[in-house]
Amino acid sequence: MKIGVIGLGNMGAPMAANLAKAGHEVTGFDTAGVRAQGVTAAASAQEAATGADVVITMLPNGQILRAVAAQIIPAMSQGAGFVDCSTVDVDSARAVARQAADAGLLPVDAPVSGGVGGALAGTLTFMAGGSDAAFAKAQPLFDIMGQKAVHCGDAGAGQAAKICNNMIFGVTMIATCEAFALADKLGLDRQKMFDVVSTSSGYSWTMNAYCPAPGVGPTSPADNDYIPGFAADLMLKDLRLSQQAAASADADTPMGQLAETLYEAFVENEDGAGRDFSAMLPRFEKRRRET
Ligand code: NAD
Repeated sequence: MKIGVIGLGNMGAPMAANLAKAGHEVTGFDTAGVRAQGVTAAASAQEAATGADVVITMLPNGQILRAVAAQIIPAMSQGAGFVDCSTVDVDSARAVARQAADAGLLPVDAPVSGGVGGALAGTLTFMAGGSDAAFAKAQPLFDIMGQKAVHCGDAGAGQAAKICNNMIFGVTMIATCEAFALADKLGLDRQKMFDVVSTSSGYSWTMNAYCPAPGVGPTSPADNDYIPGFAADLMLKDLRLSQQAAASADADTPMGQLAETLYEAFVENEDGAGRDFSAMLPRFEKRRRET
């Protein structure tokens, strides 16, 4: 296939490189001028999109996605796939999908889980929203860039699944970290805490697969001085999207709201910016109970 990839950042570049490695003809564009291995550089987003069978976008937010979509949709051929893999607000995902479908394109919102490691290894999970025909067009590419793609429903369903998943992820990480900090203060050995919780009813992905305590459990960013991994800034972004969606859908999400408040304080007023989101553990370690 002829594929255009727009947004060659930490995620987009390795995803584009994997498509090129699999034998597709990939053209890429990024405003920062960055390049990806095996990918022909285009001078503009329109140039990358012109004549493509599928265009993939991997951009920072919904506002930028809307601006890029306005540029590329008129340049794309009827029946082409428009696969947005960025994490954006549900409203932007739906607006762009509508515009693309009106222009005779096959849009899919397909945010990912798996981070930069998953993008490099081609083991991402895609959560997709769109028509059956649009999903079918994108699926061979999901198979190259990832290990699993779930067709979640119509336009916006992929973003909805992603922010609900990450709301659980953020809340659970905070619960895991505050429990470790409490265990410390109760004199409980961290390894023993892990041995019990990871095989008891408190187990979770954050405890069992991404343990926030250094030297305990499987290797995780905690063992690498909390270098991300999954940055606290990105968790804050996703929690904000979850609360924006909860407000527009009139859903009561008190834990998600509190997680957003805590990650906001961590990233904006404390030392969380640029650190892995599991660095909540050293944050709690340093704190005392607020009365
Ligand atoms: P990034 O900032 O590394 O990459 C974004 C790229 O988009 C940058 O290179 C930037 O120059 C480019 N860009 C910005 N505006 C552009 C425009 N108008 N036209 C073309 N290129 C433009 O971010 P990332 O880590 O690659 O994340 C991309 C998306 O994936 C985000 O929505 C993020 O939330 C999501 N995501 C990231 C991770 C992760 O671990 N990094 C995990 C899951 C999802």
